[in-house]
Amino acid sequence: MPRQGSSAAGITWDLTDLFASHDDPRIEATLDECRRRADAFAVRYRGTIHWAGSPSAEALLNGVKELEAIQEALGRVGTYAGLLYASDTGRIEYQNLQQRVEEQGTDLANRLLFFELEWLGLEDGAAQSLLREPALAPYRHYLETLRRFRLHKLSEAEERLLNEKDNTGRRAFGRLFAELTSSLAFPLETDGQVRDLTLSETLALLYQPDRALRRRASEVLFDVLARHGLALTVTYDTLVQDHLVMDRLRRYPHPMAERHLSNEIDHEAVERMLEVAEANYGIAQDYFALKARLLGLPRLALYDQYAPVGGPLPACTFDRAREVILAAFGAFSPVFREVAEQFFARQWIDAEIRKGKHGGAFCSSPSPALHPYILCNYTDNLRDVMTVAHELGHGLHGWMARKQTTFNYDTPLTTAETASVFGEFLVFDHLLREEQDPAVRLALLCGKIEDAFATVFRQTVLTRFEQEAFTRRKGGRFTADGLAQAWLTANRRYYADAVELPEGYRWGWSYIPHFIHTRFYCYAYVFGELLVLALYRMYREEGATFIARYLALLEAGGSDAPEALLARLGVDFRDPAFWQKGFDEIRRLVTQAKALAGEPRVLRAG
Ligand SMILES: [Zn+2]
Repeated sequence: MPRQGSSAAGITWDLTDLFASHDDPRIEATLDECRRRADAFAVRYRGTIHWAGSPSAEALLNGVKELEAIQEALGRVGTYAGLLYASDTGRIEYQNLQQRVEEQGTDLANRLLFFELEWLGLEDGAAQSLLREPALAPYRHYLETLRRFRLHKLSEAEERLLNEKDNTGRRAFGRLFAELTSSLAFPLETDGQVRDLTLSETLALLYQPDRALRRRASEVLFDVLARHGLALTVTYDTLVQDHLVMDRLRRYPHPMAERHLSNEIDHEAVERMLEVAEANYGIAQDYFALKARLLGLPRLALYDQYAPVGGPLPACTFDRAREVILAAFGAFSPVFREVAEQFFARQWIDAEIRKGKHGGAFCSSPSPALHPYILCNYTDNLRDVMTVAHELGHGLHGWMARKQTTFNYDTPLTTAETASVFGEFLVFDHLLREEQDPAVRLALLCGKIEDAFATVFRQTVLTRFEQEAFTRRKGGRFTADGLAQAWLTANRRYYADAVELPEGYRWGWSYIPHFIHTRFYCYAYVFGELLVLALYRMYREEGATFIARYLALLEAGGSDAPEALLARLGVDFRDPAFWQKGFDEIRRLVTQAKALAGEPRVLRAG
């Protein structure tokens, strides 16, 4: 039953473009057809890709196309099962369908895997001459991307052994970390009662207006982490050591190399970006001084960083959200408005809050032959308007890239959030322009600035810490003091004397899951957010000529490497001046906040 009182009650998606219901016989028929085609595919292509004569361009092309068609059909069933499950996670029929489709998907993937492995097995010379064939041009990027990790693969027997041993090795330490951090209890007194909070409940208190509560939350956070310091230190130590060993065995030249390969970016470009971020830390320090004044404090403590400032944000109904988003998108481009309208009109959005429904928000873009679907939990909060705009940004990207084929559809991590964050920015800008109440405008601005800091600056700090940790580990095992020193050094460069770091902050590194599960993940956040800020700056500077190029970028989907696609937009992300545009945009927001707070418009140079 929809919850009464939310304006999004009754806003649900219509999944009948995919299948009629969970027991639609076409689901089973599609899976049968996929199995039949996969078997025929294996008979036809096994042993024909990796052999001394190497395949003809035509044979390879036909193979890739057939593989793509099977995966597309399978994707349709997989998406349907996933969306149905998200719409009501408690319903047993949906759970069963989801599980069955997952199992069949794995089985089919295993039957088809040989094709990719044979392509990887082909010697470089033969592969390169095939890649030069004009017939293969539409799949050149896809085929090249598959071969990226070729030099770093071990023998099949070694890979299998590692895979099994990792269950009691690095994956076991990952589980230990996950289970330890989710079992931690943070005892905190509120309203005269001591309650045990979880890690995320404790972190959420740092956004509360009551300063004493924020301080207590910060103290208990680091107290509890310190008590588990030994387990957290040994876990991280083991995982970094494991990475260093595997980097040697897999012939990676440095600890970031593996991540750069999957992100389709090189070390130089990432370093230039991080250096520009560091050179702009002064913008944040300047803002922290403003925020201290707004909070009536001589200096900000770390736990004041996310304290609310300005007036409370007004409520916003789903209908109003729709109007705001369409107006903001329409002001950018009529195409944007037209596409976004379809999402509302054709029921591609599930916004109401229901028991059993998946939490949070996401956009699913199954394939170019279909259209995207959006799930969110709309609570009539102005922040939710930005969430819908974010997911609609993804949706626009998925819709506009539908001219691509399935293998050229998705983008890598670094550019996957471009359209979503850009969409959010369009709506933020619109809301700020329309809002008359200066206190609400200040709250909107500060929220945006702090989000940008958390994504750009803080993730730069995290990346610098991680780099230092890997360097230190080469010299021997971690100690708690050594890690604390590396952590505080990276943080002090950012916060400088603008923010007081509490004593317990030496454990600030210890609960961050990315360090454990996906090393060097964090710089992709910096890249994604800064890219959009810089693009937004270009839009502001260039107007109409930018818009057409931006639409073309979305249409290109994942048909080429990010660097090549962005080059068509006139972006060179190796050029520090490009990244600086992003910081100019952040500085503009800080200047606006200062003006609103009655501050002089003078900013310290970065
Ligand atoms: Zn997103």
